[in-house]
Amino acid sequence: MKKRSNLTLVLAVFLIAAIMLSKQFLPSAAPDTVADTGTETTIHFIDVGQGDASLIVSGDSAVLIDGGKQSAGDAVVDYLSRHGIADLDAVIATHPHEDHIGGLVDVFEAFDVKSVYLSDEAMDTRIYEKLLDAIDEEGIEPEFPDIGDTIPLGESGGVFTVLAPGPNSRDTYGNDPNTWSLVLRLDASGCSALFTGDTTTRVEQDMIKNTLSLLDCNVLKVAHHGSRTASSAEFLEAVSPEFAVISYEKGNSYGLPDEEVFERLEPIGTEIFETAKHGSVVLTMANGEVGVAS
Ligand SMILES: [Zn+2]
Repeated sequence: MKKRSNLTLVLAVFLIAAIMLSKQFLPSAAPDTVADTGTETTIHFIDVGQGDASLIVSGDSAVLIDGGKQSAGDAVVDYLSRHGIADLDAVIATHPHEDHIGGLVDVFEAFDVKSVYLSDEAMDTRIYEKLLDAIDEEGIEPEFPDIGDTIPLGESGGVFTVLAPGPNSRDTYGNDPNTWSLVLRLDASGCSALFTGDTTTRVEQDMIKNTLSLLDCNVLKVAHHGSRTASSAEFLEAVSPEFAVISYEKGNSYGLPDEEVFERLEPIGTEIFETAKHGSVVLTMANGEVGVAS
């Protein structure tokens, strides 16, 4: 009898702790501080060959999510310069794979970067070391955001909210660095966009469970270059994007994107852009409407 009541007490404490943790970490709605300030926000899905690089610009504010491979670094720097970027309010590296962080080394050399956000797990690779050195040279400390944390889109009023993967992602999801990808929802100019890095179905399931109301977005950067290991039908239905962008290089050795992902997007009626076919894709968000700039 005594044993049982002890067990009940332990369970009750565990339950209360779980509720407190979920309240603390899991946002249930879009940040209500995000007002449509009337400023237009532009998302550039830069064609970096096989890799990812997304530039988000609103007024004088700019944030870069990933920078493509190291060999794409010059092209990314050139793209930013041609679009009038003088400095970056933030650089966000979704996860430590080379096709996402390689080009960022050149970006840190070329631009003043005010803050940098990294996935919480490191990788013992030369390019990851180079990235940390470049950040160090910049004189800034990397931040490792948790679920529910927000990152401002400079002074524009736009806000990114972190939806995955949470702390200690290696313990939660194992050794596949794709699962450590920061997944970010952007709310700006009355619109929303979801940046998924190379996340996987396993993480998508947790987002469906924990942050479902934040998944519905106008724009989706399709996860992992259109791999079928992500973009489950259930997840795509939850996001139900008007526009989806797949970033990859034609004829890449991974055989990406997978045809299944196109088939899963079809019933949703999403308009799909592919950097391999369309080059850099530019979408504009203004007054709650998304438009295609190129
Ligand atoms: Zn990738």
